[in-house]
Amino acid sequence: MNKLVIVGTVAFDAIETPFGKTDKILGGAATYIGLSASHFNVDAALVSVVGGDFPQKHLDLLKGKNLDTSGIEVVKDGKTFFWSGKYHNNMNNRDTLATELNTLADFNPVVPKAYTNAEVVMLGNLHPLVQASVLDQMENTPKLVVLDTMNFWMDCALDDLINVIKRVDVITINDEEARQLTGEYALVTAAQKIHKMGPKYVVIKKGEHGALLFHNGQIFSAPALPLETVFDPTGAGDTFAGAFTGYLASTSDYSFNAIKNAVVYGSVLASFCVEKFGTERMETLSSDDVKSRLLKFKELTQFELV
Ligand code: AMP
Repeated sequence: MNKLVIVGTVAFDAIETPFGKTDKILGGAATYIGLSASHFNVDAALVSVVGGDFPQKHLDLLKGKNLDTSGIEVVKDGKTFFWSGKYHNNMNNRDTLATELNTLADFNPVVPKAYTNAEVVMLGNLHPLVQASVLDQMENTPKLVVLDTMNFWMDCALDDLINVIKRVDVITINDEEARQLTGEYALVTAAQKIHKMGPKYVVIKKGEHGALLFHNGQIFSAPALPLETVFDPTGAGDTFAGAFTGYLASTSDYSFNAIKNAVVYGSVLASFCVEKFGTERMETLSSDDVKSRLLKFKELTQFELV
């Protein structure tokens, strides 16, 4: 089985949407990425940090999904990363109410020895220097390195972020972040600028409007599944990234065609994530659910020229 290394936050989130409000619940980029990647035939390890306040039951949940958690450091006298956000009525925009780095502030990631030869590395959202340190620890050059980030790191660590972006094959980023990173409003132009920074593949996520894949002058578009209710979009981008990397690592095929399929799998898994608050839907998702929704995506996008 191919190996996948996932670095990112394992966190507490407090979320407010027009449908309700939660107290501190399980969240974090690596959590969503891992839960999503666990639907593919890969041996995935999470690299992250939590505090002594992090309940064992959350770690057990991740282990129960066959994710290797030995790379999650527990700082007994520290506090877990905390993020809080509030969504506007359209659910595509949100305000960050709080970002408390806590143990993440002095985190030195350690990739478990058994995973330093992983074929795929998913650099989830956290400090770009932590993302770079994970790459430095890989023994062999990975077949595919994917990076996700957000405006927070553009605001406070832009130079470090640009340095790590140079080292990756794929970047997944949302539309507003692509605009912020490049200063370009048109996504096609933004993608061209990001290509020049390093990544051969640029995936721009547009929330309920789907995702665009840019490569070598070509563009592929995948829709988001039109849903009656989007309860909570938190983690949709990370869930996308988890399926994207999980699928590719499970096939060992890194061609443009396989990457298009990975974008579709990313969209399929993300469509579940938003159906309930936090990680709730991803915790109960079955492989039959995934299979039947994949067929829905096929129906949604296939047509014959007449
Ligand atoms: P997404 O909705 O895909 O952007 O991801 C939301 C997740 O990212 C939440 O579970 C948060 O815990 C996590 N998160 C929010 N802000 C940050 C940040 N600055 N760095 C790392 N992870 C973050």
